[in-house]
Amino acid sequence: MTRPEAAAGHLWDGGWYRFARHEPSPNFRPRPAGADIDLIVVHSISLPPGLYGGPEVQELFCNRLDWEAHPYFKSIEGLQVSAHFYVRRDGQLWQFVDCDHRAWHAGRSHYRGRDECNDDSVGIELEGIEHGHFEPAQYETLAGLCAAIAQRYPVRHIAGHEHVAPGRKQDPGSGFDWARLQRCLGWPVEFFPRPTQP
Ligand SMILES: [Zn+2]
Repeated sequence: MTRPEAAAGHLWDGGWYRFARHEPSPNFRPRPAGADIDLIVVHSISLPPGLYGGPEVQELFCNRLDWEAHPYFKSIEGLQVSAHFYVRRDGQLWQFVDCDHRAWHAGRSHYRGRDECNDDSVGIELEGIEHGHFEPAQYETLAGLCAAIAQRYPVRHIAGHEHVAPGRKQDPGSGFDWARLQRCLGWPVEFFPRPTQP
């Protein structure tokens, strides 16, 4: 029988997932001491919105995006953000920040009775647009990744940016199929956001 630590060691090199492409971002800080990393936050992003397949999201997260390259980029000029992970439309997986560190994805946020979700969550960006649909390959990669995260961290909650910053953020939105992810993972429904939020 494989001990859980041994299984996690196979999947992880510290807070770096072995089965992702690694492109380290400077946009992170240490987590607060004793952070209880029990939350995964799911997002959607594409740059410019709705255009897929380019290098712009990786460039944004690594502070290399050319703000002059597209009119939309002027509207986010100077933004310094990151996520731990990025899942492309074809399921390809990138990692930018060590999961033991705090990435800059949730912003002002509140969930399961706690503020500042960046402190104690892992952020995953899906290539897509708010309220758009996501590809089967993305659900597959996302489910495998969430299971791996739960091998290393005591995950008890998974939610969208829209749930941790309601009114301010809408991603991933109505096109994301939480029930599908729940079936893939086999996690208790209590781990997932309630279908309707006030
Ligand atoms: Zn988001």
